[in-house]
Amino acid sequence: MALRLYVATSSQGKLRDFRTAAQAHSVAIEPLPALKTIPAPEEDGATFHANATLKAVFYSSFAPGELVLADDSGLEVDALLGAPGVRSARFAADAGLVDLPGADDNTDVWNNIMLLQKLADVPAARRTAHYRCVLVAARDGKVLHTAEGSVNGLILEAPRGTGGFGYDPLFYLPELDLTMAELDLETKLSLSHRGRAVAALLPMLGA
Ligand code: IMP
Repeated sequence: MALRLYVATSSQGKLRDFRTAAQAHSVAIEPLPALKTIPAPEEDGATFHANATLKAVFYSSFAPGELVLADDSGLEVDALLGAPGVRSARFAADAGLVDLPGADDNTDVWNNIMLLQKLADVPAARRTAHYRCVLVAARDGKVLHTAEGSVNGLILEAPRGTGGFGYDPLFYLPELDLTMAELDLETKLSLSHRGRAVAALLPMLGA
């Protein structure tokens, strides 16, 4: 029987990434049932590891006996001393750049504008950055396994590509001469932080 993993994320982008990354293994990736009805815990950890752990422990208690996967991930920019890091999802919101009530969700657009503003005076060679992902698998409130993945790139001065999500249109891979948003999903997952973390974690689960 295929291993079933419940993923505690409401991000469609992440869910798609997890499903694609798990395709090669006989693992069924499902969103955690009734995730929307569960009040989200405060992600107040100082590291990706701390946040992924607190989410996995918390959400696994809502699916007794099941394997629950949580991730925390984000972008670290060297010229910004590792920012936005654990604040990647809320980078613009932390500075008050938010959607008007009732407007469509433009969080990714605001975050990218914020990143370009912060790097406005930084030359191309110093715009080095890293995506990082920490995955934690838990069952009944107990951590079973932890895995990590990362990928290095450069932050462009203008977005390129329409795929992916988050900071992907600005995250440039010099060796491919493409941004993450210009890659097909299989290629992205073969080299991305999340793809690498999934590839490291699944064998630990016997998949
Ligand atoms: P969290 O892990 O849900 O706290 O948020 C991670 C944030 O980091 C996302 O909202 C994105 O802004 C960014 N991020 C993480 N992984 C990716 C990725 O694969 N592509 C683009 N942005 C990402």
